[in-house]
Amino acid sequence: MTSLFRAAPFLLTLGFAGFPFAVLGAENAGPPRVFVSVAPQLGLVRAVAGELVHVETMVEAGHSPHTYAPSPAKLTRLSGAVLYFSIGLPLEAGWLTRLRSLNPGLAVADMLRYVPRRSLEGHGHEDHGREEGALDPHVWLSPRRCAIMAHTIEQALARLLPEKAALFAAGRRALVSRAMALDQELLELTSNLQDRTLAVYHPAFGYFAEDYGLHQLAVELEGKLPTPRQLTGVLQQLRRAGTKVLLVQPEFDQRTAETLARQGGVRVVPCSPLGEDPLTTAKTLATLLVPSSPAGR
Ligand SMILES: [Zn+2]
Repeated sequence: MTSLFRAAPFLLTLGFAGFPFAVLGAENAGPPRVFVSVAPQLGLVRAVAGELVHVETMVEAGHSPHTYAPSPAKLTRLSGAVLYFSIGLPLEAGWLTRLRSLNPGLAVADMLRYVPRRSLEGHGHEDHGREEGALDPHVWLSPRRCAIMAHTIEQALARLLPEKAALFAAGRRALVSRAMALDQELLELTSNLQDRTLAVYHPAFGYFAEDYGLHQLAVELEGKLPTPRQLTGVLQQLRRAGTKVLLVQPEFDQRTAETLARQGGVRVVPCSPLGEDPLTTAKTLATLLVPSSPAGR
C-alpha cells in the first residue's frame, strides 16, 4: 500500500484518470472479495471458505437490515466484489439492481436456494391476520437450514475458484457436521421446556421456534411499530402464556420493549440474531430459555 501512496502524486501529475481504479485493482490482488447481506452469513461463508476469500457484510453492525441504506463508501467496496450471497431480505432486490449496474461482472448466489421457507406470522393480534405471501427472511438461526446453506455456499465458491473445490468441500462437510450435532443438542435441550413461548421484539426467531416446537410471539411485524392498541394485545398474550422473558435485539426500539416489560412483568433480555456465527447464536438462545442454566429464565 505504501508504494501506491508514493506513486499517487506521480500518477495524478500525469493526469492518469484511471487512478482510483488502479487502487481498486491493487486491492483486488488479494483473495477475491465476496459480499453477504448480514453478519450471520459471514460466519457461514467463512466456515466453508476459510481464508480463501475475503468476506464483507453489506449491513454494518448495529443497523437494522430492514432499513439499511448503503453508503457511497460501501458501494465503492462492492464495486470490487466478485460474488454476492443474497438471503432474501426485502431491501436486497433494490441493492442488487444498483450493484449490477455498478459492477456488471458481479455473480449473485441465492443462499436460500433449497432452503424451506416459512411465512411470517401476523402481528400477534388476531384481527390483523396474516400477511399472505410474505416469507420470513431470518433463516440462519435454524442449524438445519445452515447445513443446507453450506451446500449453496460451497457450489458458488467452487464456481468462483474451481482449483480450490476440494477445500470448499472440506469446509462444507465440517460446517454441516457442526450444524447437525448442534441441532441434536438443541432438540434435547428444549425437549422438556415448560414455557414454550418465545417472546421477542422483532420476529427473527421463527425458524428456531419451528425447529424446536416453540411458539414465537413477536411484538413487531417487519419494521412496523405496534400501536398502543396492538401493544395491549401483545400484553394480553404475554400474560396468557405466562412468559417471563422478552428477547430484544439491540438494533430495534428499546423504549417500547421496556414499556412492555414494565406493564407485562417480563424481563427484557438482549439477544441479537445478527451475530457472526449463527450456530453460536442458536446455542446461546437455547441456553437463555432453559431455567436451570446460569443465563436462563
Ligand atoms: Zn429482521
